[in-house]
Amino acid sequence: MTHAERQAALEAVATEVRSCTRCRLHETRTLAVPGEGSPDTEVVFVGEGPGFNEDRQGRPFVGRAGALLEKFLGVLRWRRDEVFITNIVKCRPPDNRDPEPDEIATCAPYLRRQLEILDPAVIVTLGRHSLGRFMPGERISQAHGTVRPVDPETGASNALAFALYHPAAALRTPDIERTSYQDVAGIPAALLESRSRRQAVAPSAPAGPPGSPPTGASSVAAETVVATAIVAGLPAADGAAFDAVVDPLIDPATATDLDFNLF
Ligand code: URA
Repeated sequence: MTHAERQAALEAVATEVRSCTRCRLHETRTLAVPGEGSPDTEVVFVGEGPGFNEDRQGRPFVGRAGALLEKFLGVLRWRRDEVFITNIVKCRPPDNRDPEPDEIATCAPYLRRQLEILDPAVIVTLGRHSLGRFMPGERISQAHGTVRPVDPETGASNALAFALYHPAAALRTPDIERTSYQDVAGIPAALLESRSRRQAVAPSAPAGPPGSPPTGASSVAAETVVATAIVAGLPAADGAAFDAVVDPLIDPATATDLDFNLF
């Protein structure tokens, strides 16, 4: 698929999601939240479901959890528009309750189609509901920071899942926030591993989508080194202390390397 075809196919899914009435969540939503990001990305982040702010804006991860997700991306020198961000359910469960199994099942074809279009190398799961889809049977406390091959039934034909705690959990618990920064530093290595698995089954396939900037194992490896060094330098204290280290990385006024484009 070309860039234009992927973009059009993703927009077609989004249009259906915006008018979806397949489950009860449509009755209480303000706006459905299909997801957003680069049609050419190799990395998809999958959260649980929209919260209050996402429901108002129709965009994923725009509240406090989203701000933390952007910091996680920032330590990798990635921006949110270089990846694709979506959720297991596309409409906000009332009062931010957990999505019900029938709501998850009804919404699943949308995510499946998004993954078929994007064909990501890595799916980063955010929290337990997303973990349940891509690493069934695993517990978040054991699985965070680790990779597993993804079942092609999910729509991702040849991907590795990489598990993270949900950023909202990290916001509640400084230990989880710190652990999450450490876990995030492992994402570029997961991308490298997935690329080599994909090359092994399709040796003639290019490393990235057509028209994407040059990419290479060495730049990803370099990002791992940078991210690991940043994370190693994080103070042992709390979220505010982390922010002092991480915020300058993602503040456009002070960031030095935000035009780095992995994809
Ligand atoms: N939490 C999620 O799981 N998804 C969002 O889009 C926002 C918060």
